[in-house]
Amino acid sequence: MSAAAILGSDLVSLRDAIASRAISAEAATRATLDRAERLNPTLNAFHELHAERAIARAREIDVRLARGDAVGPLAGVPIAIKDNIATSWGSTTCSSKILAGFKSPYDATIVERLESAGAILFGKTNMDEFAMGSSGETCAWGPVRNPWDTSRVPGGSSAGSAAAVAAGICHAALGSDTGGSIRQPAAFSALVGLKPTYGRVSRYGLVAFGSSLDQIGPLTRSVRDAALVHSVMAGHDHRDSTSATELVGDPVGACDDRAADPASLKGLQVGIPSQYLTGNHPGVDALFARARAQLHGYGATLVEVELPLTEVGISTYYVIAPAEASSNLARYDGIRYGHRTEQSGDLFDLYSRSRSEGFGTEVKRRIMLGTYVLSSGYYDAYYRRALQVRRLIKQEFDTAFAKCDVILGPTAPTPAFRIGAVQDPVTMYMNDVYTVNANIAGICAVSLYGGMAKDSTGSAGDGTASPDLPIGLQLQAPAFQEPRLLAIACAFESMLGRAPVSPIAPIG
Ligand code: GLN
Repeated sequence: MSAAAILGSDLVSLRDAIASRAISAEAATRATLDRAERLNPTLNAFHELHAERAIARAREIDVRLARGDAVGPLAGVPIAIKDNIATSWGSTTCSSKILAGFKSPYDATIVERLESAGAILFGKTNMDEFAMGSSGETCAWGPVRNPWDTSRVPGGSSAGSAAAVAAGICHAALGSDTGGSIRQPAAFSALVGLKPTYGRVSRYGLVAFGSSLDQIGPLTRSVRDAALVHSVMAGHDHRDSTSATELVGDPVGACDDRAADPASLKGLQVGIPSQYLTGNHPGVDALFARARAQLHGYGATLVEVELPLTEVGISTYYVIAPAEASSNLARYDGIRYGHRTEQSGDLFDLYSRSRSEGFGTEVKRRIMLGTYVLSSGYYDAYYRRALQVRRLIKQEFDTAFAKCDVILGPTAPTPAFRIGAVQDPVTMYMNDVYTVNANIAGICAVSLYGGMAKDSTGSAGDGTASPDLPIGLQLQAPAFQEPRLLAIACAFESMLGRAPVSPIAPIG
């Protein structure tokens, strides 16, 4: 099997080819590493590549396969992980100067689970600093670029993970999603991005941002691939007290050929919130309309539902997430982790200089905002109020799901924008209008490739025409319904069509 065939196939096919020894795990890992080394100078997707360790582990898998030993469901498959997931090898930096060179003493639970399933974790991907952002531009190691158009952002905060998969470096990468950071970069990069139900996947070893919102999930090129990676990670973990004990079910089995047949859409009740129909880029509106027409054609029922708090979700999220972040990030004090200032007087000076030097602008903004909304006098007006609205948002979803199986809408209101084009933080936050409420309500959601659109806005200013850009569509489902959500997503994927390969250097 050639490198092109390895990288061009899907994860499940690659896994099967390795298991049947049509290709070695080592060859698969080398193909991934070569491509990562070649493209990283352009994309800045990776902070670190761990070639030696990855190849050694791939060889172990090959030896076990040659002996006929049992191997796990991801044996030999290279997977990239976001740099806010702790690994006992290499560094874990959250793309922040304050954690430069930080070495975790332990592995995150999901790192252990993926490695015991045989996955080859080969690199840590760049991200918005501490996962705060929607573009990959707040990364302390420079902006990440979108393989579809390298003058544009890949979305964020799981920017490097999205860029790596979209560029054909690997078939799956892990992201974390606090308010959309798996789904929005998936949408900007023509990928599948799954945000599991809150508590479905262990957060042990995920550097905390918004502890009541954070979840880890996969970015892949197909729904079946996402289901496979998710199934390995999902399930109770006694080391995470918020981890759920509900049964995981069979997300992989749910994605069978019957599910993938769009005929299975017949009779499905698909909720369409009126709030999702306006205010989007014309390309987003057109592809959302096309999907509704296709659904109608396959015999699904389009159900009008109301989510009036859609936009209020942004204000709610940008109170709750910074509040939790301000508390979570208090531990980076220049003493226990990472960066410590060179010059300091007393202890207070040491704290304040280390934090001033170590954190970037967006992180500082969130810490200030979070501290403010939690301070006595403002707590009731902002934080307590946001928690009350959180409850209403949950209720709104409950009411909507009483009338439909899933809710369909755009993942983001626009396609990928140009690097540097969005300077105003509130404009940046509006990108998350369709994604934050799933985190606020703790439900599961997946972004799928919805088609390509032209973007005449935000031109490069040099007269060059923009290539077509991917648009994502999102399906949201009630908590703990991942198997059903993924089964429905399989049918949608067949209906909507698979994404073409990104134009970055042809694979091979
Ligand atoms: N863009 C959102 C934020 O900046 C979401 C980030 C995330 O999901 N990690 O907070």
